[in-house]
Amino acid sequence: MKTISVTKAASKGIVMGKAFIVVQQNLEADKRLIRESEKEVEIKKFEKAIKDTVADLKILAKDSDIFAAHVDVAEDPDLHDSVVQRITDESKNAQLALQEYVDTTVTLFESLDDEYLRERSADIKDVSKRIMCNLKGIKSNPFENINQEVIVVAEDLAPSDTANMDFKYIRGFITEGGGVTSHVAIMARSMEIPAIVGVANFKEEVTNDDYLILDALGAKIIINPDEATKQEYIKKAQEYKEMKEKLESMNGLPATSKDGRTVELFANVGSITDVENAVARGAEGIGLFRSEFLYMENTKFPTEQEQFTAYKTAIETIKKPMIIRTLDIGGDKELSYYKFDQEENPFLGWRAIRISLDLKDVFKTQLRAILRASAFGDIRIMYPMIISVEEFKAANEILEECKQELRQDCIPFNASIQTGIMIETPAAVLCADDLAKEVDFFSIGTNDLTQYLLAVDRGNQKISKMYNSFHPAVLRAINKVIEAGHKHGKIVGMCGEFASDEKAIPMLLGMGLDEFSMTATEVASARYNIRNLNYKECQKLANEVCIKGTIAEVMELLNDFGK
Ligand code: PEP
Ligand code: MG
Repeated sequence: MKTISVTKAASKGIVMGKAFIVVQQNLEADKRLIRESEKEVEIKKFEKAIKDTVADLKILAKDSDIFAAHVDVAEDPDLHDSVVQRITDESKNAQLALQEYVDTTVTLFESLDDEYLRERSADIKDVSKRIMCNLKGIKSNPFENINQEVIVVAEDLAPSDTANMDFKYIRGFITEGGGVTSHVAIMARSMEIPAIVGVANFKEEVTNDDYLILDALGAKIIINPDEATKQEYIKKAQEYKEMKEKLESMNGLPATSKDGRTVELFANVGSITDVENAVARGAEGIGLFRSEFLYMENTKFPTEQEQFTAYKTAIETIKKPMIIRTLDIGGDKELSYYKFDQEENPFLGWRAIRISLDLKDVFKTQLRAILRASAFGDIRIMYPMIISVEEFKAANEILEECKQELRQDCIPFNASIQTGIMIETPAAVLCADDLAKEVDFFSIGTNDLTQYLLAVDRGNQKISKMYNSFHPAVLRAINKVIEAGHKHGKIVGMCGEFASDEKAIPMLLGMGLDEFSMTATEVASARYNIRNLNYKECQKLANEVCIKGTIAEVMELLNDFGK
Protein backbone atom coordinates (compact mmCIF):
# COMPACT_ATOMS: atom_id res chain seq x y z
CA MET A 1 0.00 0.00 0.00
CA LYS A 2 1.28 3.46 -0.92
CA THR A 3 -0.32 6.85 -0.29
CA ILE A 4 0.35 9.89 -2.47
CA SER A 5 -0.78 13.32 -1.29
CA VAL A 6 -1.77 15.71 -4.04
CA THR A 7 -2.65 19.37 -4.35
CA LYS A 8 -5.09 19.65 -7.24
CA ALA A 9 -8.37 17.84 -6.61
CA ALA A 10 -10.28 19.01 -9.67
CA SER A 11 -13.61 17.38 -8.95
CA LYS A 12 -14.73 16.26 -5.47
CA GLY A 13 -15.59 12.71 -4.38
CA ILE A 14 -14.17 9.34 -3.33
CA VAL A 15 -14.03 6.40 -5.75
CA MET A 16 -12.05 3.21 -6.20
CA GLY A 17 -11.25 0.73 -8.92
CA LYS A 18 -8.49 -0.86 -10.96
CA ALA A 19 -6.07 1.49 -12.67
CA PHE A 20 -6.71 1.82 -16.37
CA ILE A 21 -3.61 3.33 -17.88
CA VAL A 22 -4.15 5.10 -21.14
CA VAL A 23 -1.46 4.09 -23.59
CA GLN A 24 -0.57 6.93 -25.88
CA GLN A 25 -1.10 6.01 -29.54
CA ASN A 26 1.83 6.51 -31.85
CA LEU A 27 0.78 9.68 -33.54
CA GLU A 28 4.30 10.73 -34.50
CA ALA A 29 4.38 12.04 -38.04
CA ASP A 30 5.89 9.91 -40.73
CA LYS A 31 8.32 12.65 -41.83
CA ARG A 32 9.14 12.83 -45.53
CA LEU A 33 10.23 15.34 -48.13
CA ILE A 34 8.17 14.93 -51.29
CA ARG A 35 8.57 15.43 -55.04
CA GLU A 36 6.76 18.17 -56.96
CA SER A 37 4.40 15.58 -58.48
CA GLU A 38 3.25 14.38 -55.02
CA LYS A 39 2.25 17.78 -53.68
CA GLU A 40 -1.27 17.82 -55.01
CA VAL A 41 -1.96 14.35 -53.60
CA GLU A 42 -0.64 15.36 -50.15
CA ILE A 43 -2.79 18.52 -50.12
CA LYS A 44 -5.83 16.43 -51.07
CA LYS A 45 -5.04 13.92 -48.30
CA PHE A 46 -4.74 16.73 -45.77
CA GLU A 47 -7.97 18.40 -46.89
CA LYS A 48 -9.82 15.09 -46.69
CA ALA A 49 -8.44 14.50 -43.18
CA ILE A 50 -9.80 17.90 -42.14
CA LYS A 51 -13.15 17.17 -43.76
CA ASP A 52 -13.42 13.82 -41.94
CA THR A 53 -12.36 15.43 -38.67
CA VAL A 54 -14.97 18.17 -39.00
CA ALA A 55 -17.64 15.55 -39.77
CA ASP A 56 -16.68 13.54 -36.63
CA LEU A 57 -16.61 16.67 -34.49
CA LYS A 58 -19.99 17.88 -35.72
CA ILE A 59 -21.56 14.67 -34.45
CA LEU A 60 -19.91 15.11 -31.05
CA ALA A 61 -20.81 18.84 -31.00
CA LYS A 62 -24.51 17.95 -30.71
CA ASP A 63 -23.86 17.08 -27.06
CA SER A 64 -21.05 19.41 -26.11
CA ASP A 65 -20.07 23.03 -26.70
CA ILE A 66 -16.41 22.09 -26.46
CA PHE A 67 -16.66 20.11 -29.68
CA ALA A 68 -18.51 22.96 -31.36
CA ALA A 69 -15.44 25.07 -30.56
CA HIS A 70 -13.24 22.28 -31.92
CA VAL A 71 -15.02 22.47 -35.27
CA ASP A 72 -13.81 26.09 -35.46
CA VAL A 73 -10.25 24.99 -34.63
CA ALA A 74 -10.36 22.35 -37.39
CA GLU A 75 -11.77 24.83 -39.89
CA ASP A 76 -9.33 27.59 -38.95
CA PRO A 77 -7.98 29.00 -42.26
CA ASP A 78 -4.63 29.59 -40.55
CA LEU A 79 -4.28 25.86 -39.93
CA HIS A 80 -5.22 25.01 -43.52
CA ASP A 81 -3.05 27.68 -45.15
CA SER A 82 0.02 27.08 -42.98
CA VAL A 83 0.02 23.35 -43.64
CA VAL A 84 -0.64 23.75 -47.38
CA GLN A 85 2.14 26.36 -47.56
CA ARG A 86 4.59 23.90 -45.96
CA ILE A 87 3.58 21.22 -48.46
CA THR A 88 3.82 23.55 -51.48
CA ASP A 89 6.83 25.72 -50.63
CA GLU A 90 8.86 23.43 -48.38
CA SER A 91 8.09 20.05 -50.05
CA LYS A 92 7.02 18.43 -46.78
CA ASN A 93 4.49 15.63 -46.65
CA ALA A 94 1.13 16.37 -45.00
CA GLN A 95 1.96 14.60 -41.71
CA LEU A 96 5.22 16.50 -41.28
CA ALA A 97 3.63 19.82 -42.30
CA LEU A 98 0.83 19.30 -39.76
CA GLN A 99 3.23 18.27 -37.00
CA GLU A 100 5.34 21.40 -37.56
CA TYR A 101 2.30 23.67 -37.52
CA VAL A 102 1.08 22.17 -34.24
CA ASP A 103 4.52 22.32 -32.62
CA THR A 104 5.03 26.01 -33.44
CA THR A 105 1.51 27.09 -32.52
CA VAL A 106 1.44 25.14 -29.26
CA THR A 107 4.91 26.38 -28.26
CA LEU A 108 3.76 29.95 -28.87
CA PHE A 109 0.53 29.55 -26.85
CA GLU A 110 2.27 27.77 -24.00
CA SER A 111 4.90 30.49 -23.72
CA LEU A 112 2.22 33.10 -23.07
CA ASP A 113 1.50 34.26 -19.57
CA ASP A 114 -2.21 33.77 -19.97
CA GLU A 115 -3.49 30.58 -18.33
CA TYR A 116 -6.58 30.58 -20.55
CA LEU A 117 -4.54 30.63 -23.77
CA ARG A 118 -2.08 28.09 -22.40
CA GLU A 119 -4.93 25.72 -21.72
CA ARG A 120 -6.51 26.43 -25.13
CA SER A 121 -3.37 25.05 -26.72
CA ALA A 122 -4.81 21.74 -25.49
CA ASP A 123 -7.66 22.25 -28.00
CA ILE A 124 -5.21 22.63 -30.86
CA LYS A 125 -3.36 19.48 -29.79
CA ASP A 126 -6.60 17.56 -29.45
CA VAL A 127 -7.97 18.57 -32.84
CA SER A 128 -4.69 17.97 -34.63
CA LYS A 129 -4.49 14.53 -32.99
CA ARG A 130 -7.77 13.74 -34.72
CA ILE A 131 -6.52 15.10 -38.03
CA MET A 132 -3.31 13.06 -37.63
CA CYS A 133 -5.36 9.92 -36.87
CA ASN A 134 -7.32 10.49 -40.05
CA LEU A 135 -4.12 11.10 -42.03
CA LYS A 136 -2.60 7.90 -40.66
CA GLY A 137 -5.81 5.92 -40.95
CA ILE A 138 -5.92 5.19 -37.16
CA LYS A 139 -9.44 4.94 -35.80
CA SER A 140 -9.06 3.08 -32.51
CA ASN A 141 -10.75 4.03 -29.24
CA PRO A 142 -8.47 3.19 -26.28
CA PHE A 143 -11.48 2.97 -23.94
CA GLU A 144 -13.35 0.34 -25.96
CA ASN A 145 -12.55 -2.75 -23.92
CA ILE A 146 -13.19 -1.60 -20.38
CA ASN A 147 -15.48 -4.10 -18.64
CA GLN A 148 -14.85 -3.52 -14.93
CA GLU A 149 -14.82 -0.50 -12.60
CA VAL A 150 -11.70 1.54 -13.31
CA ILE A 151 -9.96 4.80 -12.58
CA VAL A 152 -8.51 6.19 -15.76
CA VAL A 153 -4.88 7.24 -15.43
CA ALA A 154 -3.53 9.34 -18.28
CA GLU A 155 -0.88 11.86 -19.14
CA ASP A 156 -3.73 14.16 -20.02
CA LEU A 157 -7.31 13.68 -21.16
CA ALA A 158 -8.79 15.65 -23.98
CA PRO A 159 -12.49 16.26 -24.61
CA SER A 160 -12.40 13.73 -27.44
CA ASP A 161 -11.10 11.10 -24.98
CA THR A 162 -13.94 11.74 -22.56
CA ALA A 163 -16.37 11.56 -25.48
CA ASN A 164 -15.06 8.06 -26.25
CA MET A 165 -15.63 6.80 -22.71
CA ASP A 166 -18.38 4.55 -21.50
CA PHE A 167 -19.20 5.80 -18.01
CA LYS A 168 -20.79 2.53 -16.97
CA TYR A 169 -17.38 1.48 -15.64
CA ILE A 170 -15.27 4.64 -15.40
CA ARG A 171 -15.29 5.93 -11.83
CA GLY A 172 -12.65 8.67 -11.84
CA PHE A 173 -9.70 10.32 -13.55
CA ILE A 174 -6.14 10.92 -12.54
CA THR A 175 -3.99 12.94 -14.94
CA GLU A 176 -0.38 13.96 -14.88
CA GLY A 177 -1.08 17.26 -16.63
CA GLY A 178 -3.86 19.83 -16.46
CA GLY A 179 -4.86 22.55 -14.06
CA VAL A 180 -8.15 23.07 -12.25
CA THR A 181 -9.41 25.15 -15.17
CA SER A 182 -8.36 22.60 -17.79
CA HIS A 183 -11.00 20.87 -19.85
CA VAL A 184 -10.66 17.56 -18.07
CA ALA A 185 -11.29 19.36 -14.78
CA ILE A 186 -14.28 21.26 -16.17
CA MET A 187 -15.74 18.11 -17.74
CA ALA A 188 -15.19 16.06 -14.59
CA ARG A 189 -16.95 18.66 -12.45
CA SER A 190 -19.90 18.99 -14.80
CA MET A 191 -20.25 15.18 -15.01
CA GLU A 192 -19.64 14.94 -11.24
CA ILE A 193 -16.83 12.40 -11.79
CA PRO A 194 -14.14 12.63 -9.10
CA ALA A 195 -10.82 13.72 -10.55
CA ILE A 196 -7.33 14.62 -9.47
CA VAL A 197 -5.14 16.45 -11.97
CA GLY A 198 -1.53 17.57 -12.19
CA VAL A 199 0.03 14.49 -10.49
CA ALA A 200 3.51 14.58 -12.04
CA ASN A 201 4.90 11.21 -13.26
CA PHE A 202 2.00 9.24 -11.79
CA LYS A 203 2.02 6.71 -14.64
CA GLU A 204 5.44 5.55 -13.43
CA GLU A 205 3.88 4.63 -10.07
CA VAL A 206 1.17 2.28 -11.32
CA THR A 207 0.37 -0.64 -13.59
CA ASN A 208 -2.98 -1.97 -14.82
CA ASP A 209 -2.92 -4.61 -12.09
CA ASP A 210 -2.96 -2.02 -9.30
CA TYR A 211 -6.07 -1.14 -7.33
CA LEU A 212 -6.56 2.56 -6.58
CA ILE A 213 -8.51 4.70 -4.16
CA LEU A 214 -9.01 8.21 -5.49
CA ASP A 215 -9.83 10.49 -2.57
CA ALA A 216 -10.56 13.89 -4.09
CA LEU A 217 -11.90 15.10 -0.73
CA GLY A 218 -8.78 14.42 1.29
CA ALA A 219 -6.54 15.03 -1.78
CA LYS A 220 -4.93 11.57 -1.69
CA ILE A 221 -4.35 8.60 -3.97
CA ILE A 222 -3.87 5.21 -2.35
CA ILE A 223 -2.26 2.46 -4.43
CA ASN A 224 -3.15 -1.13 -3.47
CA PRO A 225 -4.85 -0.36 -0.15
CA ASP A 226 -5.01 -3.06 2.52
CA GLU A 227 -8.45 -4.45 3.35
CA ALA A 228 -8.95 -2.20 6.40
CA THR A 229 -8.16 0.94 4.40
CA LYS A 230 -10.47 -0.18 1.61
CA GLN A 231 -13.32 -0.71 4.10
CA GLU A 232 -12.61 2.68 5.69
CA TYR A 233 -12.93 4.35 2.28
CA ILE A 234 -16.06 2.43 1.32
CA LYS A 235 -17.57 3.93 4.48
CA LYS A 236 -16.24 7.43 3.71
CA ALA A 237 -17.59 7.27 0.14
CA GLN A 238 -20.99 6.21 1.47
CA GLU A 239 -20.98 9.07 4.00
CA TYR A 240 -20.09 11.54 1.26
CA LYS A 241 -22.92 10.22 -0.94
CA GLU A 242 -25.40 10.56 1.92
CA MET A 243 -24.13 14.03 2.72
CA LYS A 244 -24.59 15.12 -0.91
CA GLU A 245 -28.13 13.77 -0.92
CA LYS A 246 -28.81 15.55 2.34
CA LEU A 247 -27.41 18.81 0.93
CA GLU A 248 -29.52 18.60 -2.17
CA SER A 249 -32.63 17.83 -0.18
CA MET A 250 -32.19 21.19 1.53
CA ASN A 251 -32.61 23.23 -1.67
CA GLY A 252 -35.36 25.68 -0.95
CA LEU A 253 -34.71 25.80 2.79
CA PRO A 254 -33.41 29.12 4.14
CA ALA A 255 -29.79 29.55 5.25
CA THR A 256 -30.78 29.95 8.90
CA SER A 257 -28.45 29.13 11.78
CA LYS A 258 -29.61 26.84 14.59
CA ASP A 259 -30.40 29.90 16.71
CA GLY A 260 -32.32 31.75 14.02
CA ARG A 261 -29.95 34.09 12.13
CA THR A 262 -30.89 34.00 8.42
CA VAL A 263 -28.55 35.13 5.66
CA GLU A 264 -28.98 35.22 1.90
CA LEU A 265 -27.23 32.69 -0.32
CA PHE A 266 -26.62 34.12 -3.75
CA ALA A 267 -24.69 32.94 -6.81
CA ASN A 268 -21.94 34.55 -8.87
CA VAL A 269 -22.57 34.26 -12.61
CA GLY A 270 -20.95 35.18 -15.89
CA SER A 271 -23.45 33.86 -18.42
CA ILE A 272 -27.06 32.84 -18.90
CA THR A 273 -26.02 29.18 -18.45
CA ASP A 274 -24.59 30.15 -15.06
CA VAL A 275 -27.90 31.78 -14.17
CA GLU A 276 -29.73 28.56 -15.09
CA ASN A 277 -27.31 26.62 -12.87
CA ALA A 278 -27.91 29.08 -10.06
CA VAL A 279 -31.65 28.35 -10.28
CA ALA A 280 -31.02 24.59 -10.34
CA ARG A 281 -28.76 24.77 -7.29
CA GLY A 282 -31.25 26.75 -5.22
CA ALA A 283 -29.50 30.14 -5.13
CA GLU A 284 -31.70 32.85 -3.63
CA GLY A 285 -30.50 35.50 -6.03
CA ILE A 286 -27.49 36.66 -8.03
CA GLY A 287 -24.96 38.50 -5.89
CA LEU A 288 -22.56 39.18 -8.74
CA PHE A 289 -23.41 39.26 -12.43
CA ARG A 290 -19.99 39.71 -14.05
CA SER A 291 -21.22 41.79 -16.98
CA GLU A 292 -17.79 41.86 -18.62
CA PHE A 293 -18.47 38.47 -20.24
CA LEU A 294 -20.87 40.26 -22.58
CA TYR A 295 -18.03 42.53 -23.64
CA MET A 296 -15.22 39.99 -23.71
CA GLU A 297 -17.09 37.48 -25.86
CA ASN A 298 -17.98 40.12 -28.41
CA THR A 299 -16.19 41.58 -31.40
CA LYS A 300 -17.30 45.12 -30.56
CA PHE A 301 -18.84 46.94 -27.60
CA PRO A 302 -22.25 45.26 -27.13
CA THR A 303 -25.16 47.47 -28.07
CA GLU A 304 -27.84 48.65 -25.64
CA GLN A 305 -30.29 46.22 -27.19
CA GLU A 306 -27.91 43.25 -26.94
CA GLN A 307 -27.25 44.00 -23.29
CA PHE A 308 -30.89 44.65 -22.52
CA THR A 309 -31.81 41.25 -23.97
CA ALA A 310 -29.12 39.50 -21.89
CA TYR A 311 -30.08 41.22 -18.61
CA LYS A 312 -33.79 40.70 -19.25
CA THR A 313 -33.27 36.99 -20.00
CA ALA A 314 -31.18 36.65 -16.84
CA ILE A 315 -33.70 38.35 -14.52
CA GLU A 316 -36.58 36.41 -16.05
CA THR A 317 -34.64 33.21 -15.44
CA ILE A 318 -33.65 33.84 -11.84
CA LYS A 319 -36.85 35.74 -10.87
CA LYS A 320 -35.07 36.86 -7.68
CA PRO A 321 -32.77 39.79 -6.80
CA MET A 322 -29.90 40.19 -9.27
CA ILE A 323 -26.91 42.48 -8.74
CA ILE A 324 -25.32 43.50 -12.04
CA ARG A 325 -21.76 44.71 -11.71
CA THR A 326 -20.97 47.33 -14.31
CA LEU A 327 -18.11 46.69 -16.70
CA ASP A 328 -14.99 45.50 -14.86
CA ILE A 329 -12.24 45.34 -17.46
CA GLY A 330 -8.61 46.41 -17.39
CA GLY A 331 -6.11 44.73 -15.08
CA ASP A 332 -5.90 41.25 -16.60
CA LYS A 333 -9.15 41.49 -18.56
CA GLU A 334 -8.83 42.87 -22.06
CA LEU A 335 -11.10 43.38 -25.03
CA SER A 336 -10.04 42.11 -28.45
CA TYR A 337 -11.57 45.17 -30.13
CA TYR A 338 -10.31 47.94 -27.88
CA LYS A 339 -6.66 48.85 -27.58
CA PHE A 340 -5.57 49.55 -24.03
CA ASP A 341 -2.41 51.60 -23.61
CA GLN A 342 0.53 49.66 -22.22
CA GLU A 343 0.63 50.28 -18.45
CA GLU A 344 3.41 49.64 -15.94
CA ASN A 345 0.93 48.49 -13.29
CA PRO A 346 -2.33 47.47 -14.97
CA PHE A 347 -3.96 46.38 -11.69
CA LEU A 348 -3.32 49.86 -10.32
CA GLY A 349 -4.20 51.43 -13.60
CA TRP A 350 -7.09 52.14 -15.89
CA ARG A 351 -9.64 49.53 -14.90
CA ALA A 352 -13.27 49.03 -13.83
CA ILE A 353 -15.18 52.18 -12.78
CA ARG A 354 -12.26 54.36 -13.92
CA ILE A 355 -12.85 53.23 -17.50
CA SER A 356 -16.62 53.65 -17.23
CA LEU A 357 -16.31 57.21 -15.93
CA ASP A 358 -13.88 58.09 -18.76
CA LEU A 359 -15.78 56.33 -21.56
CA LYS A 360 -19.10 57.90 -20.75
CA ASP A 361 -20.91 56.71 -23.88
CA VAL A 362 -19.93 53.11 -23.22
CA PHE A 363 -21.06 53.47 -19.59
CA LYS A 364 -24.38 55.08 -20.53
CA THR A 365 -25.12 52.30 -23.03
CA GLN A 366 -24.72 49.78 -20.23
CA LEU A 367 -26.67 51.77 -17.64
CA ARG A 368 -29.59 52.34 -20.04
CA ALA A 369 -29.69 48.61 -20.80
CA ILE A 370 -29.67 47.74 -17.08
CA LEU A 371 -32.35 50.33 -16.32
CA ARG A 372 -34.59 49.03 -19.09
CA ALA A 373 -34.20 45.46 -17.80
CA SER A 374 -35.03 46.67 -14.28
CA ALA A 375 -38.66 46.96 -15.39
CA PHE A 376 -38.73 43.14 -15.41
CA GLY A 377 -37.49 42.28 -11.91
CA ASP A 378 -35.40 43.22 -8.89
CA ILE A 379 -32.18 44.33 -10.59
CA ARG A 380 -29.57 46.25 -8.60
CA ILE A 381 -26.46 48.05 -9.87
CA MET A 382 -22.99 47.60 -8.42
CA TYR A 383 -19.92 49.67 -9.29
CA PRO A 384 -16.53 47.92 -9.16
CA MET A 385 -13.22 49.11 -7.67
CA ILE A 386 -14.54 52.25 -6.02
CA ILE A 387 -12.02 54.28 -4.01
CA SER A 388 -14.03 57.36 -3.07
CA VAL A 389 -17.43 58.87 -2.39
CA GLU A 390 -16.82 61.19 -5.37
CA GLU A 391 -16.55 58.25 -7.77
CA PHE A 392 -19.77 56.73 -6.48
CA LYS A 393 -21.57 60.07 -6.85
CA ALA A 394 -20.15 60.61 -10.34
CA ALA A 395 -21.39 57.18 -11.43
CA ASN A 396 -24.83 57.85 -9.98
CA GLU A 397 -25.01 61.25 -11.72
CA ILE A 398 -24.54 59.50 -15.06
CA LEU A 399 -27.20 57.00 -13.99
CA GLU A 400 -29.55 59.93 -13.30
CA GLU A 401 -28.90 61.29 -16.83
CA CYS A 402 -29.85 57.89 -18.24
CA LYS A 403 -33.03 57.80 -16.15
CA GLN A 404 -33.95 61.26 -17.41
CA GLU A 405 -33.49 60.18 -21.05
CA LEU A 406 -35.60 57.06 -20.55
CA ARG A 407 -38.33 59.11 -18.88
CA GLN A 408 -38.40 61.50 -21.83
CA ASP A 409 -38.76 58.55 -24.20
CA CYS A 410 -41.44 56.98 -21.98
CA ILE A 411 -39.38 53.79 -21.56
CA PRO A 412 -40.24 51.96 -18.33
CA PHE A 413 -37.63 51.26 -15.64
CA ASN A 414 -37.37 50.97 -11.86
CA ALA A 415 -36.83 54.58 -10.76
CA SER A 416 -35.69 53.54 -7.29
CA ILE A 417 -33.19 50.95 -8.51
CA GLN A 418 -30.63 50.25 -5.78
CA THR A 419 -27.00 51.19 -6.33
CA GLY A 420 -24.13 49.76 -4.35
CA ILE A 421 -20.42 49.26 -4.56
CA MET A 422 -17.83 46.54 -4.40
CA ILE A 423 -15.48 46.97 -1.48
CA GLU A 424 -12.22 45.77 -2.96
CA THR A 425 -9.73 48.56 -2.33
CA PRO A 426 -8.06 49.60 0.96
CA ALA A 427 -9.39 53.13 0.35
CA ALA A 428 -12.97 51.85 0.31
CA VAL A 429 -12.36 50.00 3.58
CA LEU A 430 -10.95 53.06 5.31
CA CYS A 431 -13.76 55.28 3.97
CA ALA A 432 -16.43 52.60 4.54
CA ASP A 433 -18.26 54.79 7.03
CA ASP A 434 -18.54 57.69 4.55
CA LEU A 435 -19.45 55.40 1.68
CA ALA A 436 -22.08 53.58 3.75
CA LYS A 437 -24.01 56.84 4.14
CA GLU A 438 -24.34 57.10 0.35
CA VAL A 439 -24.83 53.60 -1.01
CA ASP A 440 -27.71 51.12 -0.84
CA PHE A 441 -25.42 48.13 -0.23
CA PHE A 442 -21.86 46.90 -0.05
CA SER A 443 -20.45 43.70 -1.53
CA ILE A 444 -16.96 42.76 -0.40
CA GLY A 445 -14.74 41.55 -3.25
CA THR A 446 -12.15 39.59 -1.32
CA ASN A 447 -10.32 38.46 -4.46
CA ASP A 448 -9.11 41.98 -5.19
CA LEU A 449 -9.27 43.25 -1.61
CA THR A 450 -6.74 40.60 -0.58
CA GLN A 451 -4.36 41.52 -3.40
CA TYR A 452 -4.61 45.25 -2.77
CA LEU A 453 -4.39 45.05 1.03
CA LEU A 454 -1.43 42.67 1.03
CA ALA A 455 0.21 44.13 -2.10
CA VAL A 456 0.27 40.58 -3.52
CA ASP A 457 -0.65 40.18 -7.21
CA ARG A 458 -3.49 37.63 -7.27
CA GLY A 459 -2.20 36.08 -10.51
CA ASN A 460 1.50 35.81 -9.71
CA GLN A 461 2.42 32.15 -9.03
CA LYS A 462 5.74 33.11 -7.48
CA ILE A 463 4.11 34.83 -4.53
CA SER A 464 0.91 32.81 -4.44
CA LYS A 465 1.72 31.50 -0.96
CA MET A 466 1.47 35.06 0.35
CA TYR A 467 -1.99 35.55 -1.16
CA ASN A 468 -4.09 34.57 1.83
CA SER A 469 -7.48 36.00 2.75
CA PHE A 470 -7.06 34.73 6.32
CA HIS A 471 -4.39 37.39 6.89
CA PRO A 472 -5.43 39.46 9.94
CA ALA A 473 -5.40 42.63 7.82
CA VAL A 474 -8.03 41.19 5.47
CA LEU A 475 -10.18 39.85 8.31
CA ARG A 476 -10.12 43.16 10.19
CA ALA A 477 -10.97 44.99 6.97
CA ILE A 478 -13.98 42.72 6.39
CA ASN A 479 -15.14 43.22 9.96
CA LYS A 480 -14.78 47.00 9.72
CA VAL A 481 -16.78 47.13 6.48
CA ILE A 482 -19.61 45.06 7.95
CA GLU A 483 -19.73 47.29 11.03
CA ALA A 484 -19.76 50.46 8.92
CA GLY A 485 -22.49 49.14 6.64
CA HIS A 486 -24.68 48.08 9.57
CA LYS A 487 -24.16 51.37 11.41
CA HIS A 488 -25.96 53.02 8.49
CA GLY A 489 -28.53 50.26 8.05
CA LYS A 490 -27.03 48.90 4.83
CA ILE A 491 -26.86 45.29 3.67
CA VAL A 492 -23.32 43.93 3.46
CA GLY A 493 -22.60 41.00 1.16
CA MET A 494 -19.50 39.25 -0.09
CA CYS A 495 -18.93 38.02 -3.65
CA GLY A 496 -15.24 37.10 -3.51
CA GLU A 497 -14.25 33.41 -3.34
CA PHE A 498 -13.84 33.73 0.43
CA ALA A 499 -17.63 33.70 0.87
CA SER A 500 -17.74 29.97 0.09
CA ASP A 501 -14.68 28.98 2.10
CA GLU A 502 -15.77 26.33 4.59
CA LYS A 503 -13.37 27.59 7.25
CA ALA A 504 -14.33 31.24 6.74
CA ILE A 505 -18.12 30.85 6.79
CA PRO A 506 -18.60 30.56 10.60
CA MET A 507 -16.44 33.63 11.19
CA LEU A 508 -18.16 35.65 8.43
CA LEU A 509 -21.55 34.70 9.80
CA GLY A 510 -20.35 35.79 13.24
CA MET A 511 -19.14 39.12 11.87
CA GLY A 512 -22.70 39.71 10.67
CA LEU A 513 -22.32 39.29 6.90
CA ASP A 514 -25.84 39.46 5.43
CA GLU A 515 -25.36 37.91 2.01
CA PHE A 516 -22.94 35.24 0.78
CA SER A 517 -22.48 35.02 -3.00
CA MET A 518 -20.54 32.17 -4.61
CA THR A 519 -20.22 29.76 -7.54
CA ALA A 520 -23.56 27.97 -7.83
CA THR A 521 -22.05 24.54 -7.09
CA GLU A 522 -20.99 25.75 -3.62
CA VAL A 523 -24.43 26.98 -2.56
CA ALA A 524 -25.75 23.66 -1.22
CA SER A 525 -22.78 23.00 1.07
CA ALA A 526 -22.74 26.61 2.32
CA ARG A 527 -26.43 26.26 3.17
CA TYR A 528 -25.77 23.03 5.04
CA ASN A 529 -22.84 24.60 6.83
CA ILE A 530 -24.82 27.65 7.98
CA ARG A 531 -27.84 25.61 9.06
CA ASN A 532 -25.57 23.68 11.41
CA LEU A 533 -23.98 26.73 13.01
CA ASN A 534 -24.88 28.62 16.13
CA TYR A 535 -24.81 32.36 15.44
CA LYS A 536 -23.90 33.32 19.00
CA GLU A 537 -20.92 30.96 18.98
CA CYS A 538 -19.89 32.36 15.60
CA GLN A 539 -20.05 35.90 16.97
CA LYS A 540 -17.72 34.88 19.78
CA LEU A 541 -15.41 33.26 17.25
CA ALA A 542 -15.39 36.40 15.07
CA ASN A 543 -14.48 38.59 18.06
CA GLU A 544 -11.60 36.31 18.97
CA VAL A 545 -10.36 36.06 15.38
CA CYS A 546 -10.27 39.83 14.93
CA ILE A 547 -7.70 40.29 17.69
CA LYS A 548 -5.33 37.60 16.46
CA GLY A 549 -2.14 38.96 14.94
CA THR A 550 -0.97 36.10 12.73
CA ILE A 551 -2.47 33.79 10.12
CA ALA A 552 -1.30 30.80 12.17
CA GLU A 553 -3.23 31.96 15.25
CA VAL A 554 -6.31 32.68 13.14
CA MET A 555 -6.17 29.21 11.57
CA GLU A 556 -5.72 27.54 14.92
CA LEU A 557 -8.93 29.15 16.17
CA LEU A 558 -10.85 28.33 12.99
CA ASN A 559 -9.60 24.74 12.85
CA ASP A 560 -10.59 24.16 16.47
CA PHE A 561 -14.01 25.73 16.06
CA GLY A 562 -16.85 23.25 16.44
CA LYS A 563 -14.57 20.39 17.49
C1 PEP B 1 -13.40 40.24 -6.24
O1 PEP B 1 -12.47 41.00 -6.56
O2 PEP B 1 -13.48 39.67 -5.12
C2 PEP B 1 -14.47 39.93 -7.21
C3 PEP B 1 -15.52 39.24 -6.87
O3 PEP B 1 -14.30 40.40 -8.47
P1 PEP B 1 -13.37 39.73 -9.58
O4 PEP B 1 -12.90 38.41 -9.06
O5 PEP B 1 -14.23 39.63 -10.78
O6 PEP B 1 -12.28 40.76 -9.70
MG1 MG C 1 -12.64 42.33 -8.26
